[in-house]
Amino acid sequence: LVPIDLHIHSTASDGTDDPVALVEHAHAAGIDTIGLTDHDATGGWAAATAALRPGMTLVPGAELSCEYQPADGPAIPMHLLAYLFDPDEPRLRERMDSLCSARVGRAEQMVDRMEADGLPITWGDVRSVAAGGTVGRPHIARALVSAGVVDSVDAAFAGPINSRSPYYVGKPDIPVFEAIDLVRGAGGVCVFAHPLRRGRQVDDHGIVRMAAAGLRGIEVDHPDHDAAARIHLAAIAGDLGLITTGSSDYHGTNKRTRIGACTTDPDAFAALVDPVRGRLLVA
Ligand SMILES: [Zn+2]
Ligand SMILES: [Zn+2]
Repeated sequence: LVPIDLHIHSTASDGTDDPVALVEHAHAAGIDTIGLTDHDATGGWAAATAALRPGMTLVPGAELSCEYQPADGPAIPMHLLAYLFDPDEPRLRERMDSLCSARVGRAEQMVDRMEADGLPITWGDVRSVAAGGTVGRPHIARALVSAGVVDSVDAAFAGPINSRSPYYVGKPDIPVFEAIDLVRGAGGVCVFAHPLRRGRQVDDHGIVRMAAAGLRGIEVDHPDHDAAARIHLAAIAGDLGLITTGSSDYHGTNKRTRIGACTTDPDAFAALVDPVRGRLLVA
């Protein structure tokens, strides 16, 4: 059995391991197949590929910030895992670049609001925490911890950077059907990330609609899903003919989950990547 972990973040977004350290960490943990899925970013692919040990496989990907519009009520933010797409396909590239700059712009606006309000934090502090990766809320959280404003990253997420905080600035997300279309247009495959994580959730009808639009899989085994959530999602996947995946959503020390905490069945992996097997990256 070859352990497969298809959802991992590096310093190219909000993980704390750089892509080289990440590959070494996966290797040491016995994970041979890793999906590198930084938020709206592909900047870690090259370094991670170069660091692969013999026998390891990199599944290049990204976790796209999307939104689903239900029949009633406001749009629901959600994450879409995109794998094995052509990173140079112009339509997808343009959309990812604008998402990425929007993420950084909103982070800078949040820090400006805090600074204007007298909190001892600067954009320079946050950028140095991010170490060249796309700045996100976890980096602001760590800068707030370093500045002594809060005791922990969790306290920052519950306080100054919470979506209900006056410092909070929203970010534009891609409508999920547009994202599925863009990824498929770039030759990739899509998996709905952690559909039943805490917060507002897309209902089963939304998953039915996404499957009809070309979604190929659902992330069923995820650290934020309890047993009931996994059973429910596996049943929907069975009904819709979707592939089920399992992943850790490892973020280094930004979250407590260990790499390989959840893994994907090798047969499910083979089915997921079959149409685009040529884009897997190996040592
Ligand atoms: Zn996510
Ligand atoms: Zn993630």
